[in-house]
Amino acid sequence: MNRTENAAIVSLRTVRKEYRLGQTLVPALRGVSFDIHRGEFTALVGSSGSGKSTLLNIVGLVDTPTSGAVLLEGEDVSALNERGLARLRNQKLGYVFQSFNLIPVLSAFENVEVPLLLRKELSRDERRERVAAALEDVGLGEHARKRPDTLSGGQRQRVAIARALVGRPRLVLADEPTANLDSVTAHTIIDVCLELNAKRGVTFLFSTHDEKLMERVSRRIRIQDGRVVEQ
Ligand code: ADP
Ligand code: MG
Repeated sequence: MNRTENAAIVSLRTVRKEYRLGQTLVPALRGVSFDIHRGEFTALVGSSGSGKSTLLNIVGLVDTPTSGAVLLEGEDVSALNERGLARLRNQKLGYVFQSFNLIPVLSAFENVEVPLLLRKELSRDERRERVAAALEDVGLGEHARKRPDTLSGGQRQRVAIARALVGRPRLVLADEPTANLDSVTAHTIIDVCLELNAKRGVTFLFSTHDEKLMERVSRRIRIQDGRVVEQ
């Protein structure tokens, strides 16, 4: 049996995380376990300080647990060195941030192209086709040449979603992607993500503390004081 075909995209096994603040240990995650499967659209919900960002950073391989295991497509990531982790981050994961994190001097097109510049196997034409397709997918085909400061907040976040998608990741992670947007725009961003999920099968895990947004997703993982209380 092929291990990677049957495994969840991500499995967390009793993940604990403690931060050291001077002499005290702050428990941020107190034994979190769940699986994310292909095609799922999951909201990680919980109030401020409940551990959402800590959890997404661990799933995103930008932070490591104090104890417990993280498996990406069945592979225990604790065995990997920084180079191996960087490769997985670039090839298997896409990231969307609350504050968009676009590069101001680059056009929308060039921002979306950035993750593909590390993919030496792609020709320039393949790269450009993929960037154009990703911008079309988020409804920004017309705005490819524009710089971030000439785009609205919602459009900037669409550029960031296109950038997260362009490498065809197994999983897109988004930490409070709508927190800097008004509520109407927030819903349109979730619409874009839901459509990508339905049409392209993109798997999403995003965090939010907005009760209205979390009603729109098929799966919720609720976290409270570093523990999963509903999933
Ligand atoms: P959320 O994203 O849900 O607001 P966080 O994951 O940011 O929650 O934080 C969870 C807990 O961990 C909070 O008590 C927070 O204060 C603490 N925490 C987060 N990051 C750090 C850090 N770098 N150092 C110390 N404590 C931290
Ligand atoms: Mg947070």
